[in-house]
Amino acid sequence: MQVNQKIVKEKVKTTKVEKAVVLNVKDLKKYFPVKSGFLIQKTIGYVKAVDGVSFEVKKGKTFGLVGESGCGKTTTGRSIIRLIKPTAGVVEFLGTNIADLNEKELKPYRTKMQIVFQDPMSSLNPRLSIGEALSEPLLYHKRVKSKAEANMVIKDLLVKVGLKPYHIDRYPHQFSGGQRQRIALARAIILKPELVILDEPTSSLDVSIQAQIINLLLSLQEEMGMGYIFISHDLSVVRFISDEVGVMYLGRIVEYGQSDEIFTNPLHPYTKGLLAAAPIPDPKVKRSKKDMITGKVPSPINRPNGCFFHPRCKYKKAVCESEYPPLIKVSDTHWVSCYLYA
Ligand code: SF4
Repeated sequence: MQVNQKIVKEKVKTTKVEKAVVLNVKDLKKYFPVKSGFLIQKTIGYVKAVDGVSFEVKKGKTFGLVGESGCGKTTTGRSIIRLIKPTAGVVEFLGTNIADLNEKELKPYRTKMQIVFQDPMSSLNPRLSIGEALSEPLLYHKRVKSKAEANMVIKDLLVKVGLKPYHIDRYPHQFSGGQRQRIALARAIILKPELVILDEPTSSLDVSIQAQIINLLLSLQEEMGMGYIFISHDLSVVRFISDEVGVMYLGRIVEYGQSDEIFTNPLHPYTKGLLAAAPIPDPKVKRSKKDMITGKVPSPINRPNGCFFHPRCKYKKAVCESEYPPLIKVSDTHWVSCYLYA
């Protein structure tokens, strides 16, 4: 069904968002078909990259999504922002479920949610100067009336992200990695979005630059009130920036809650294992091997029965091998999916 564009725009402006929740994700699923056959391809299974993920992001707050490579955190981010279409579930953004909207219906929401990728070089057009790249969205969405006005907005924004106004005429290859990530951030916030998905934004940067970018993200959030989804495998960075955290394993969230609580009192054996594996910046501190995870992540095409973590878990019970554990509330700000707490 075609939805009148004016009606959609009006809806974005007027929908009342209760408790300042910007994004509410409910039972989000993204399955990729696995094909076989040379001439006639048949679907022989599915990679369940995201399989029933639920969480919310509040205005001016950061939700951190952590887990090993391949756990589905990037696919979750891309499904939310509709770079890929979810298989099922609800993505309630500013009070409207955008999971099933077509491209025309999505257009007014596109400017209000942005994404920053790990590698800024691959997301910037090498043939466009920074001024040209940043003026495109301003002119296309009619946020400015002329190129001259766009240039004024861009110069102010470059200063805000820690660059110089004269950088407007330079090209991406003339910047360092940290500067390019600042430009990617400037492009993400130029239309004043409500939600920014940060997909490993500091992973390709060295440690001192990482700290600068994290501090910049926090100051921009304080000034503009954006909600962030911060996707990373770096637990120390996630702990520093996040208000709430979800720990993902093989497409599902296994532990969820307030960041301080998750990091000071981790309950799920997988979360404990991730924390035990995080580097300690002191060579004199001896690492406990008690919670270390052994074994490999099982294939997402053929996940184990019961709790997906049971082949690697030291604490497994008989029930763990046959039934998936429900998400159990252990406090008002802490949930865990594990039979140890049932
Ligand atoms: Fe381990 Fe069982 Fe908890 Fe899964 S449900 S993490 S196998 S104890």
